[in-house]
Amino acid sequence: MKPLIVKDTDEKIYPTKIICLARTYRKHAEEMRSELPTEPILFLKPPSAIIYSSDHIVIPEISKEIHYEGELAVIIGKKGKNISKEGAYSHILGYSAFLDITARDLQSYAKSRGYPWSISKGFDTFAPISEVTKKEEIEDPHNLNIKLWVNNEIKQNSNTKYMIFTIDQIIEYVSKIMTLERGDIIATGTPEGVGKIKKGDRIILEIDEVGRLENCVT
Ligand code: MG
Repeated sequence: MKPLIVKDTDEKIYPTKIICLARTYRKHAEEMRSELPTEPILFLKPPSAIIYSSDHIVIPEISKEIHYEGELAVIIGKKGKNISKEGAYSHILGYSAFLDITARDLQSYAKSRGYPWSISKGFDTFAPISEVTKKEEIEDPHNLNIKLWVNNEIKQNSNTKYMIFTIDQIIEYVSKIMTLERGDIIATGTPEGVGKIKKGDRIILEIDEVGRLENCVT
């Protein structure tokens, strides 16, 4: 399993969990023909899915439709439970660029039967993540351009200001349920423009001030 690397430090942190949010951008909910939630929708990815920039995303044999989802990830710096909105930022270490790779065909199958999404989200290599940029380097996490290219063609082009929940709200909500540990990753959901990737594709995700990911598909 791969640890998180904190930029400009020697620090390596092993996350205990990756918490992902679904449908946090209105236009993405629309493209998925899903309702916009009033409370965050959560699912977990295993930390065993983590890879770094320039590592390869491996398509599993049992899926015919793999999608990219470019997302801003919040990295927890200080352990906490029942964290208030007011105290939320003191629990953040920094931010990373994150790809929530999804086997969309397996997810659709699970959705139609009311099954969990763990299979479609949990394969090895399905969680590419950039180095962690410390929060002090980020002027406003709610105003960051987020762009994704597949083979140099732009596919996602949005801004974190369009997220329907704020980061302090998300931390308050999640920490009511589970203790957040140092290194835990909260992936805040993807904007519109998700789509299929295939063998040989090259995906680039860039989030202003935060980081860049470049991964090929094999
Ligand atoms: Mg996602």
